[in-house]
Amino acid sequence: MHGSASTTLEDTPIFDQSAFRLTDRQAELTALARHIGATKLAPRAADYDRRAAFPTENYTDLFEAGLLGVCIPTEYGGIGADFQTYAIVAAEIGRYCGSTALTWNMHVCSCLWSGSLTDGLEMDAATREVHQARRGIHYRRILEHGAIYSQPFSEGGAAAAGVAAFGTKAKQVPGGWLVTGKKIFASLSGHANYYGILCTEDRPDAGRRDTLYLAVPADAPGVSVSGEWDPLGMRGTVSRTLTFVDVFVDDDAALMPRGIYAQAATRWPHMFLTLTPAYIGIAQAAYDFTIRYLRGEVPGTPPVKRRMYPTKQIAVAQMRIMLEQTKGLWFQAITEAGPNPSKEQVLRAYTAQYTAMENANEIARLAIRTCGGQAMLRSLPLERLYRDSRCGSLMLPWTAELCLDRLGRETLYERGETDE
Ligand SMILES: Cc1cc2nc3c(=O)[nH]c(=O)nc-3n(C[C@H](O)[C@H](O)[C@H](O)COP(=O)(O)OP(=O)(O)OC[C@H]3O[C@@H](n4cnc5c(N)ncnc54)[C@H](O)[C@@H]3O)c2cc1C
Repeated sequence: MHGSASTTLEDTPIFDQSAFRLTDRQAELTALARHIGATKLAPRAADYDRRAAFPTENYTDLFEAGLLGVCIPTEYGGIGADFQTYAIVAAEIGRYCGSTALTWNMHVCSCLWSGSLTDGLEMDAATREVHQARRGIHYRRILEHGAIYSQPFSEGGAAAAGVAAFGTKAKQVPGGWLVTGKKIFASLSGHANYYGILCTEDRPDAGRRDTLYLAVPADAPGVSVSGEWDPLGMRGTVSRTLTFVDVFVDDDAALMPRGIYAQAATRWPHMFLTLTPAYIGIAQAAYDFTIRYLRGEVPGTPPVKRRMYPTKQIAVAQMRIMLEQTKGLWFQAITEAGPNPSKEQVLRAYTAQYTAMENANEIARLAIRTCGGQAMLRSLPLERLYRDSRCGSLMLPWTAELCLDRLGRETLYERGETDE
């Protein structure tokens, strides 16, 4: 099988239980993810990548292991993982298949955001009661039928960056909403059962505060998928274009009550850090590969006999330093995730996002330079890790550029402060 040899069943945890003070449950779940990753996901990763095909079999395995419900609260029958637990489990998945981890993130967010995240936000008792009943419908679909949810937000304008209202509109009609609009880079297109879209209420003067988060059934009349998908990396995400023309969804399609998404985006900013775990896994995989390659332990490769050279040793040291810096900062940021973070915590979250995305690619780049030409052939996973890692810094709303932008501005200015 092409490109499957970087990881083995002996892989040690990315986050050691005692060093990172993980609970027994966290250690169990990360071990489960590693086992599925090494035995199921890694052997299939190259084929999905080559064909730019959605990893359907991986989703069957994740469903059977209960991991589609990882962030569904326990009272609904899910695993009830919190943000930090989800993130370290997702990093282990990303180590074996970046596309599976990234798409699984979109799916899991539909549960995390409607679940524990929303529990920490303000709403009146009646609204909360309706929300709890509605999310139960979504959770049952996932736990009982293996339904897969996606998260197409991007539209090509400024909305996904958080600076304008979404152009996709939902018009209230008796019993629900009529949705019209277009989403680009919609991962899981044609493969998710529900598209969890962000859209704006279609009424005069509606703005960003009037963002709705609705689950649109993939087979509803008026939904279509178009466009080619032949990208550089993360090819298994199948992120094509989705068009909605007067698509009816009923009131129960709401994954968050009215007004709550806007509250979440302001008061729970770490919600946007959920795209990083896949790339932490990729960084670890590129590092693991390099060590095994230089030690002559990658099956099917010639014994390279290069580890005695100081240049190789220095490169490995640089990779190790970068990996430890990335993991340490990222772990701190995912541990701080929660409602109403301090300014320092938000700045740290941007820094962690930037570092995870940029360093994953830098570590993969160093891995290719250090291992050399024979290691970047398609028959090995390194070149896929390199291509997948390149996509991390493009993820809105916290692209690498926008993190720099926010970090500089929000460090130098307090909220509302101007130079006038
Ligand atoms: C593999 C892959 C999977 C994806 N899956 C999904 C998905 O499932 N759901 C989803 O919603 N999106 C998804 N995306 C889309 C992603 O989040 C971005 O929306 C997309 O890459 C935007 O591309 P663009 O070049 O059109 O960005 P543009 O909007 O043109 O931005 C280009 C760059 O300009 C900068 N920029 C953008 N807006 C501003 C601003 N207001 N101020 C300053 N700088 C700005 C940013 O750094 C950005 O990277 C995916 C992307 C990839 C590559």
